[in-house]
Amino acid sequence: MVTPGDAPFLANMALPLEVGSRTQRILVVDDDEPMRRTLLRLLAAPDRAVEETDSVEGTLRMLAAQSYDLILLDYRLPDGDGLAVLDWLSEHERGELVVMLSGEDAIDAAIGALRRGADDFVRKPYRLSQLNRAVDNALLKTRLQRSNREMGQRLQESERLHRYLVESSPDLIFTLDPAGRFTYVNPRIEGLLGFARADLEGEAFSSIVSAEDTARIVQLFENPLQPARTAHSLELRLASRKVGSGPPTVSLNTEPMYGRGDERNGARFMGTYGVARDISDRKRAEEIIAFQAYHDQLTRLPNRALFRDRLDLAIAQTDRRKGSLAVLFIDVDRFKLVNDTYGHSQGDQLLRSIANRLRQTLRRGDTLARVGGDEFLALLPDITHPEDVQAICQKILDALRAPFRLQHGEFSATVSIGIAMFQKDGESADMLTQHADIAMYQAKRSGKNGFCFFDSSLNHNYRERISLENDLRKAIDRGELELFYQAQVSIAKRRVVGTEALLRWRHPAHGLLGPDTFIPLAEEAGLISGISNWVIDAACAQLRDWRDIGFSELRMSVNLSPRDFEHGEIVETVRRSIAHHRLDAASLDLEITESLMMQDAGSVRGKVQALREAGVGVAIDDFGTGYSALAYLQKFPVSSLKIDRGFVRDLNGKSSPIIAAITGIARGFGLQVVAEGVEHQGQIEHLRSLGCDTLQGYLFSKPVPAEEAESLFLEIPSGLPA
Ligand code: C2E
Ligand code: CA
Ligand code: CA
Repeated sequence: MVTPGDAPFLANMALPLEVGSRTQRILVVDDDEPMRRTLLRLLAAPDRAVEETDSVEGTLRMLAAQSYDLILLDYRLPDGDGLAVLDWLSEHERGELVVMLSGEDAIDAAIGALRRGADDFVRKPYRLSQLNRAVDNALLKTRLQRSNREMGQRLQESERLHRYLVESSPDLIFTLDPAGRFTYVNPRIEGLLGFARADLEGEAFSSIVSAEDTARIVQLFENPLQPARTAHSLELRLASRKVGSGPPTVSLNTEPMYGRGDERNGARFMGTYGVARDISDRKRAEEIIAFQAYHDQLTRLPNRALFRDRLDLAIAQTDRRKGSLAVLFIDVDRFKLVNDTYGHSQGDQLLRSIANRLRQTLRRGDTLARVGGDEFLALLPDITHPEDVQAICQKILDALRAPFRLQHGEFSATVSIGIAMFQKDGESADMLTQHADIAMYQAKRSGKNGFCFFDSSLNHNYRERISLENDLRKAIDRGELELFYQAQVSIAKRRVVGTEALLRWRHPAHGLLGPDTFIPLAEEAGLISGISNWVIDAACAQLRDWRDIGFSELRMSVNLSPRDFEHGEIVETVRRSIAHHRLDAASLDLEITESLMMQDAGSVRGKVQALREAGVGVAIDDFGTGYSALAYLQKFPVSSLKIDRGFVRDLNGKSSPIIAAITGIARGFGLQVVAEGVEHQGQIEHLRSLGCDTLQGYLFSKPVPAEEAESLFLEIPSGLPA
């Protein structure tokens, strides 16, 4: 087993091989003092360290302390002979070379010494040149021996390093023989595929390749007839023996291996060297990205792109079979209310639950996709009769009947479904989807929570809507918006005390349009905040003019959309307008709806609060028609309530308990009250007696252009009783 700890210190590998450059240590052993001196002098050289001793015992002590390259050893010593030293060296497996110096002339002594490990034998008395040669020879020998040893070591280390690199590689590394059988495979095979290395010895490479890719691999590496051996680079799936893990995908690179000396072309094919890198993770990531590109994150349903793909395919098949298919456009009713009221996370939760129920009502071959905020498309292939589609739509409506659980309680969601049939309503994916969309709008118009088949006459309305939206985008720049003003009259003061700005659009083709025809469109198309900004500024400018010409107490009411509180800087816009037109903030009232108060998002309340702190009045419009809960009144620091004209209308001749309740609430909370839609003198007395002094309605004036409104400010309002 190789571990990282085995990795040799790489710097070692970089050292150049230098033979014998280091100081050589020589030990001179002789009991004859003058002889020793002579030897020391003779041997002295800058790259040598020469030491001396005079006995066997002294020699062994010095050898125990360190090693030498060469020992010049006297045969006879006072405490024994040099042979004892030779024995000691061989016993301790020492590498010192020994040149024996001896006065013995017997050949036996020389042979004995050489046998027991001496490298040379010099007989005393010796000639200088003789000794020098022996020493030089011995030293050269030690040098060569040492460098051989070092070389061997380096080779070993280098081999260990390379083995380590190969064996611990995160890639699968292997070699094959010319027939494509494993000759080597690194241990990665075990972790990657669960094969034991031993099992693969002599096995064909194709035995670790998945079935789909086997043929390719056999052709490349196990084909004895294939003459040209070249490098290859390919992606393939391997066969895994490991349970619970899919077959890994690898990117494989191979190189042919050539040996020297071929019969003919100078290189002999020896087999293949290969490296396979596991790219399964990258593959999986690619698959996830592909999934995300074709699916909706929130519901994990197919998205528009994938739906389109499937629809194209289904159309082609259906066309061939001469069959029929249906496209359903499913839109959640009042979904915006959920989002506005409970917040986006609850909205998301609801969408997921709706998606689940829709999925469950559809059949296996059907495709359900989410294509927009609260819009789904369903593809129903294999439809024989329109009645079948009808039945499925009914099933969908039924499936949604049970309420959904949200954080705040239960919520009943309904949908409107538009149906387009191939081929009757269109032959292309685009046409079918668009017509299903148009039919869906028709279903909405006929009261929602239902379905509607496409009818070519619908097309016309839809196109109108689209072109109106386009016109509206340009309306502000083209100066087509106008404000009309409707007077608010004080019974006690017997004069006009305020006026409500009501928006009109002077459409070049359709004439003067009331806000009900285009405000919802503006809200849906995201155009409302630009419109609101224009309205606020225009109303403030008008009020400035009126105040400048003497109507110094006149107040102005402006309507805002709940959308204005969602994003954008409504507070900033209002503040800026007031400052720009040098108005007293208290002269402005902003009318908001009850539904806005339902949004418990702190930011809405924060904005209302900020407006109030800026000194601006905030009125709740159409009070009493919505979800009015007293709790909201406590939370929202509004300044007045506008009684909806529906209640005022009911007042006809008799008193109204609802208005009594509203005025009671207003008194309790210290709020102003304005009654809207006053059309008959008969209503005035009732309202007055209930404590409602400020009135607005056709009785006094319809909403009219500024100049007309202005002329009323000076008169005693015509509708008041004498
Ligand atoms: P609202 O705020 O409730 O405005 C009062 C509506 O009642 C006005 O309709 C007005 O013409 C009508 N009305 C007033 N007195 C009487 C009456 O005695 N009898 C009857 N039958 N109706 C009366 P209009 O001008 O068509 O406005 C409709 C709605 O459009 C307004 O309802 C308001 O919610 C919205 N709106 C108007 N201007 C704007 C605006 O600048 N921005 C926004 N976001 N909404 C606006
Ligand atoms: Ca209003
Ligand atoms: Ca109103």
